[in-house]
Amino acid sequence: MAILKIAKYPDPILRKKTELVDFSDKSLPKLVEDMFETMYAAEGVGLAANQVGVDLRLAVIDCSGGEDPKERLILVNPEILETRGDVSEEEGCLSFPKIRAKTDRADYAKVRAFTLKGKAFLVEGDGLLGKALQHEIDHLNGRLFIDRMGLAQKALISGKLKDLKAEGTPKKKKAGK
Ligand code: ZN
Repeated sequence: MAILKIAKYPDPILRKKTELVDFSDKSLPKLVEDMFETMYAAEGVGLAANQVGVDLRLAVIDCSGGEDPKERLILVNPEILETRGDVSEEEGCLSFPKIRAKTDRADYAKVRAFTLKGKAFLVEGDGLLGKALQHEIDHLNGRLFIDRMGLAQKALISGKLKDLKAEGTPKKKKAGK
């Protein structure tokens, strides 16, 4: 197992819609184990493959933070089937270190996904699980939690967002005039 490097905003891979997983890909079980290990090490409850630089429609979630093996969810090629209710609650994202802000989402989500072996299943939930399902599937569509914040929330984090952008952008030499 290995801890992978997490792509930080504004890395362009976070804005890319990911490619469908091919179930014959033999590297998937190891990738999934590494993603869980990376997520636990970073104290997150969800991680999408493009957050570790892999362009695949694959995400892991564990709302117990590694406490309960039954909570481990592997979502291959997931799609949201249904959402209900509106919430605006504080969220964080491993690609946005030190930033937390109220994010507008549905409370409940129902998702169809596949196991690593290609078997379809349904998963649904509200509260933390409902939000995590939506947050991770957003990632796989190139959508970030900052896209779901109101203007007031975005204004509150704009300074931190700017710092993050500056850290992630290679420094260019200023051309003298
Ligand atoms: Zn995230």
